[in-house]
Amino acid sequence: LVELRDVQKYFGSLHVLQDINMSVARGEVVVVIGPSGSGKSTLCRTINRLEPIDSGTITLDGQPLPAEGRALARLRADVGMVFQAFNLFAHKTVLQNVTLGPMKAKGVKRAAAQEEAMRLLERVGVANQANKLPAQLSGGQQQRVAIARALAMKPKVMLFDEPTSALDPEMINEVLDVMTSLAKEGMTMVVVTHEMGFARRAAHRVIFMDDGRIVEEAAPEEFFTRPKSDRAKDFLSKIL
Ligand code: ATP
Ligand code: MG
Repeated sequence: LVELRDVQKYFGSLHVLQDINMSVARGEVVVVIGPSGSGKSTLCRTINRLEPIDSGTITLDGQPLPAEGRALARLRADVGMVFQAFNLFAHKTVLQNVTLGPMKAKGVKRAAAQEEAMRLLERVGVANQANKLPAQLSGGQQQRVAIARALAMKPKVMLFDEPTSALDPEMINEVLDVMTSLAKEGMTMVVVTHEMGFARRAAHRVIFMDDGRIVEEAAPEEFFTRPKSDRAKDFLSKIL
């Protein structure tokens, strides 16, 4: 579903993505881990073209990522993204946050958008907060709204960039539970996270990045019990 071939990206002289080759099959859940600054966020951002690449190719469903215009807007709809900071529209209600995208970008009528939004808010467990403003919600609730908002666009793939790292510990699980159930339902997901429990439970594959490269790629069980590279061993010894 998502393919990256020989992707290179620089920030000035910094070679932030080096020879990245990776593919994510439909329904697959890939967890990306690695030290700070290794390029995990940049990798996510290239997949929905928030960041352009310098060479190589990225395709979604066999189509190269469009550079601009309507095709780019369509791509953004196809690739849902959830960030560390929830990025909700502060002056809109929870319900409006979820209905806005489908109404604006896809021309969905208000009533239909609201019905679908309520279904999604129900699914992530915050339907009773629909008429509140984001600031009136806990961090965990806001992040679940952010997930519902991304799902409202009916994406082909969901990207999560450290979705729980800004949350208090007691709220982490309520977000991970939603992500785990999405994974079980067959959503294609790329998840940058330090939550190794989630990786073990939900990932089909773990990708370990260091210094802009994919250093290791394995099933979670294999990766956590028998990491091959010294860099992965060193990283795991620090976080586990
Ligand atoms: P973290 O775990 O801290 O989130 P990361 O693996 O997500 O790290 P990236 O945010 O992808 O790392 O950053 C990779 C490298 O690129 C870092 O050295 C960072 O300083 C640099 N970088 C990221 N964004 C930019 C930018 N817009 N301009 C210049 N350099 C950048
Ligand atoms: Mg990051």
